Amino acid sequence: MDDLTDVYNELIMEHSMNSYNKKKLEKADYSEIGHNPNCGDEITLELKLNGDIIEDMAFSGHGCAISQASTSIMIDTLKGKTMEEAKEIIKTFIAMIKREITDEEELQKLEDAIAFKNVSHMPARVKCALLAWHTIEDILNQKEKEKENGK
Ligand code: ZN
Repeated sequence: MDDLTDVYNELIMEHSMNSYNKKKLEKADYSEIGHNPNCGDEITLELKLNGDIIEDMAFSGHGCAISQASTSIMIDTLKGKTMEEAKEIIKTFIAMIKREITDEEELQKLEDAIAFKNVSHMPARVKCALLAWHTIEDILNQKEKEKENGK
């Protein structure tokens, strides 16, 4: 047993062991690799947009339970959201992990991703929990740039 015991709640266990989000999309608009060398986590995140809405997402890869579960739960949370809504949720999640936001009410918008709140007390696990969220941030920033360039 280690200090992770209290974050291994049922939800995280479920998503880390057998995630239905771990698959390949038939037609992804974006694919981005996220890598956390501290722990050896590596994920490939795929995203399909429908206009401004995140229509579908999936991931592949390997890593610790926290990184895999965080990726899967992030997908559940952001699927069906607009890019603007997604950005707000991503910002809130990162702020929660960095303990910049602790207000429960504000954290409600994270839906199931609130399960990672305790990770904020485990410095060694912070990068694992944030990996997928930084990876999708990269994709959304890339998308924004394309828009600016009139693509
Ligand atoms: Zn990890």
